[in-house]
Amino acid sequence: KQITIAIDGFSSTGKSTIAKLIAKSLGYIYVDSGAMYRAITFFAMKNGLISTEHFNRETLISELPNAKVSFTFNDALGFAEVYLNNENIEKDIRTLEVSNLVSIVAAVPEVRAQLVKIQKAIGKHKAVVMDGRDIGTVVFPDAELKIFMTASAETRALRRYNELKNNGENITFEAVFENVQKRDHLDSTREDSPLIQAEDAIAIDNSNATIEEQYQNILKLANT
Ligand code: C5P
Repeated sequence: KQITIAIDGFSSTGKSTIAKLIAKSLGYIYVDSGAMYRAITFFAMKNGLISTEHFNRETLISELPNAKVSFTFNDALGFAEVYLNNENIEKDIRTLEVSNLVSIVAAVPEVRAQLVKIQKAIGKHKAVVMDGRDIGTVVFPDAELKIFMTASAETRALRRYNELKNNGENITFEAVFENVQKRDHLDSTREDSPLIQAEDAIAIDNSNATIEEQYQNILKLANT
């Protein structure tokens, strides 16, 4: 039986790593909803609409029809990469600069409405594992399996720091730690679809769990 799996939680809890493994094992498609918010943020940055100093919110809202976000499956990687107006921007959206601005863009209701519409459409005809902040509450409130992942801010910042370092970014742990805490705060206090655990979600604290343990645990839940 095919089901919809929603994986929500705080930044850098390893949602995407686990979601990818689950999707692969079940033959479902994996959708990284955060990549879509990052894509719109990258669009705003490229068009001079947002920086650490300013945010031209109204112009971004009026330009939204010109920001076409889509996914294309990459066979070699085994997952779908995000495109902005048919250009692969998978690498551009993972920088700390984008991470520092994305929660501001994601708080704009018009941005959310546009992306949630696409997310719902993807899930309509296909079995998906989608990760994000509001998947179990807003995008797929009827998902058969909802997971809410948490871990201490220190653990999460350290994971993200190592990841960015490996990608060749010149950053400090403190800067990443600050970003993780700031995003937690903005994501859980925004008015539109704040990050909250769905009532029927299963909470998993993975501060001390290996990827393999979490993966097996969630796979078991998906198969019951
Ligand atoms: O998952 P990731 O950390 O890449 O998401 C980046 C940001 O996008 C989050 O911090 C949040 O502000 C926003 N987001 C969201 N709703 C989602 C997924 C991501 O608001 N479903």
